[in-house]
Formats: sequence, C-alpha cells, structure tokens
Amino acid sequence: MEHFPIFVSLAKARVLVSGGGEPALAKLRLLLKTPAAITVFAEGAAPEIAGWAAAGKLSLESRRPEAADFNGVTLAYAAEEDAGEAARTAALARAAGVMVNVVDNLEASAFITPAIVDRDPVTIAIGTEGAAPVLARALKADLEARLPATLGPLARVGKAFRKLAEALPHGRTRRDFWSDYYGSEGPRAFAEQGAAGAEAALHDLLARHSAQASRPGHVAFVGAGPGDPDLLTLKARRALDEADVVIHDRLVTPAILDLARREALMIDVGKEGFGPSTSQEQINALLVEHGASGAQVVRLKSGDSTVFGRLDEEIDACDAAGIGWHIVPGITAASAAVAAIGQSLTRRGRNASVRFLTGHDVAGFADHDWAALARPGEVAAIYMGKKAARFVQGRLLMHGADRATPVTVIENASRPDQRVLASTLATLPADLAEAEMNGPALTFLGLAPRAAALTLPALQKELA
Ligand code: SAH
Repeated sequence: MEHFPIFVSLAKARVLVSGGGEPALAKLRLLLKTPAAITVFAEGAAPEIAGWAAAGKLSLESRRPEAADFNGVTLAYAAEEDAGEAARTAALARAAGVMVNVVDNLEASAFITPAIVDRDPVTIAIGTEGAAPVLARALKADLEARLPATLGPLARVGKAFRKLAEALPHGRTRRDFWSDYYGSEGPRAFAEQGAAGAEAALHDLLARHSAQASRPGHVAFVGAGPGDPDLLTLKARRALDEADVVIHDRLVTPAILDLARREALMIDVGKEGFGPSTSQEQINALLVEHGASGAQVVRLKSGDSTVFGRLDEEIDACDAAGIGWHIVPGITAASAAVAAIGQSLTRRGRNASVRFLTGHDVAGFADHDWAALARPGEVAAIYMGKKAARFVQGRLLMHGADRATPVTVIENASRPDQRVLASTLATLPADLAEAEMNGPALTFLGLAPRAAALTLPALQKELA
C-alpha cells in the first residue's frame, strides 16, 4: 500500500487549482462539494469556472500561481494541460510544503484522487494506485448500484442521534442498536416517512435496546472451511461479523481472519512458540473466560469443527461453566480435496461408505481396522497423514492391500497454492518425500484424480 487512504477535512481549508480546462473542471466538480475556499489560477478559464467565480463559489485569478499563493494552502492541483506548466506549479507547491496532485501524473503527485461513491456523509473512496482504473470504475459502478440513495440521509439522521445513543452501554449493545438502525429499521422507516420516520425509528430502537438485558456471553463453534473464504457459510460470515472475540487455529487462513469484525479481539491458539500449540486446557480456559465476561466468542476451527477438532472437550468446558454454545458447520478438508480431483467420496458399486481417519493422534500413529481398509474399493480420507504415510503403507500391505491401489494427496485444498499428487500405495512414501509438501494435506486412499480434472496443466505436471 504505497498510497495510504485518509479523509482530509476541508472545513476551513484553502485549495489551489491551477488550470482552466477540462482536467481542472473535473477536479472542481468534486471540490465544489466540499466547504473548501477554492482559488483557481487560469488565463482564459472555461466558462463554467468563470460562472462559478461570478456566483461566488470560488475565486478566479487570471494568471499563473506564484510562490506566495501557496501560503496556508492545504491541497494543490496542478491541472494545466501543458506538462511544463503543471511541473512548475507542482514544484512551487512542494517548495511551500503543500500536498500536490499533478493531474494524470501518478509519479509527480503527492496524493491522488480516488474514485468516489458519494452518499454524504458516507463516502467510499476506491484506489488502485494507478494499476487498474478500469477496475476502480467497475467497483464504483457496482457500489453505486448496490447502495441505496437513502444511505446519506439515513446517516445524517443517525449522526444527529449519536449523543442520545450514548445512553446505551458502550460496546455490543450500542453496536447492535446501530446495526438495527442501518440494517433494517432505518431504511424501512425512511422509505415510509422520510427523515422524520427514521428519527422516530431511532427513538423506538433506543427504548427497545435500553430495556433489553444485555445478551449473555456465548460461544459459536464455527467451521472456517478449507481456506478459500468463498467456502465459508453465510452463518460463519455473520458470526465473524458479530464476534467480540475470535479464537482461531493456525490453519485458518488470513483471508478468512480478515473478515472478522475489525474491533474483535483475535487470539491465535495455534501458534508455535507456546510449545507445539496452546494446550487444550488453555484453550478451554480462554473460551470460558471470554464467554463468562459476556462476549460473543467465535471459536474458529479449520474445515468442520466436528472433524478432528477436539470439539467435545471445548463443549464440555462451556457446559461446565454454564456458557451457551452452538455449532456452525463448515466444509471439511475431505470435501474440498475430493472436489479438487473431480471425484466423489462414495460411488455406487465401488464404495458405499467412506472413512475419515487421522494419521496420528495424541498417542502417535493411529491404529485402524487395517484389514477392512485393505479391501479393494475402500475409500478413506486421511487427515494429518503425511508423517504417517510409511506407517499406513506398511500396515495396509501387511493386510493384503493391492500395491497398485491409487492414493492421492491434496495439499492446500481450495487455496491458490493447491497441489495434487497422484500416487499409489507402493510409491506413496517416496512420492511424498519428493513432492516436499509443507502445507496441510489430505490423503485419499482408493481414489485417483478423475482424468477430466487433470486437463489443468498444473495437475498434469504433478502427475508427470
Ligand atoms: N477440522 C478440520 C481438520 C483438522 S485436522 C477439517 O474438517 O478439515 C488438520 C488436518 O486437516 C490437516 O493435517 C490436513 O490433513 C487437513 N486439512 C485441513 N485443511 C486442509 C486443506 N486446505 N487442504 C488439505 N488438507 C487440509
């Protein structure tokens, strides 16, 4: 982020615009929405500019700006059509320590003007640092279409009510009040009765929220899915949006953590450095501590929290402390991984059941019903299976499994760095060692990638 977005107050500020043609006009149309005192320097300014000057909306000087003109100026625009003139103005501005924008010259500009969606007092600024103006325009068009025109007036009514809203306890109660206003009650009342209706709605909401005993603390066990934020459920997104505290594992991707409410306290309990990870007892204690303090806690686990997630221990801790909880299901790694190879987990005539196994558990490599798993057509999704590959291979071969049984390892399923390794029981440990997979990986016993899924060049490479 080379350009840092801020909103500059132009309430008592002076803005200097040099140039009188179309580039200057474009900036002036925006600047005239602000209370800034604007001075335009131009010989032979466009008639609109002369008109604005005559109407007292700005002052017009029919000459080039000089050094002294920059005294006390907050922002300057070098909007001359002649590049040499613009460079001269920019140099004067810089010498005076004034932030300058040189129209259509990113490198020479101290600041740039973003694409703007105006729902005053709500203003959305979109910038791409000059990389993709087309994208900025598309985003702007999208937001323009999506945001109701009443957003501005609603926000103005809301702003005037802020003092009264301070009667509500700070924090969640007040946030809920505002989210009810902007999310539902306000727009409805405004549509029916305009600004007066919106204000009446605020009074009603204030009464309701004051009366409401504050919500007790609660823990939502939320499945974050395999990593792609688009694979979050709507419920998961909503829970993240409302969370006071988010307690997450190491495997939850940054793109997903970014979706949490900005004010939420984020606690990483998967970090190395606490030992291999924060102990289960510490996690339970954190859940209880925050739940008991009245917080809306999101316990965010990768995939689905009911799959190899030690969920029951955390539920027991909540129950013992009398803290309410619920589970929001997520897409487990096996579902994402099987999608990546274009197969199904079960298939008529091949396997009527599928097992989810863990390669190792707290006691080391995990033991399973190897005789059953060794039968032809069996399908198993092995979680945490990389280190256990040789152990699993040995056990299966010992129980008579076919050496040619397909085995597929999917690393970083659903993520941009997803990789697929197609192997067989005979070659699995060697293939895995060669592939050097460092990300989370799911191993399928009894499944090969479907040929059609391999038309992707990346996958072909993996198989070569
Ligand atoms: N609750 C999680 C599993 C937790 S155990 C779920 O439902 O998916 C952690 C293991 O899950 C990892 O060792 C790996 O085997 C698997 N895993 C998690 N995310 C994965 C991903 N994006 N791609 C492949 N495997 C993944």
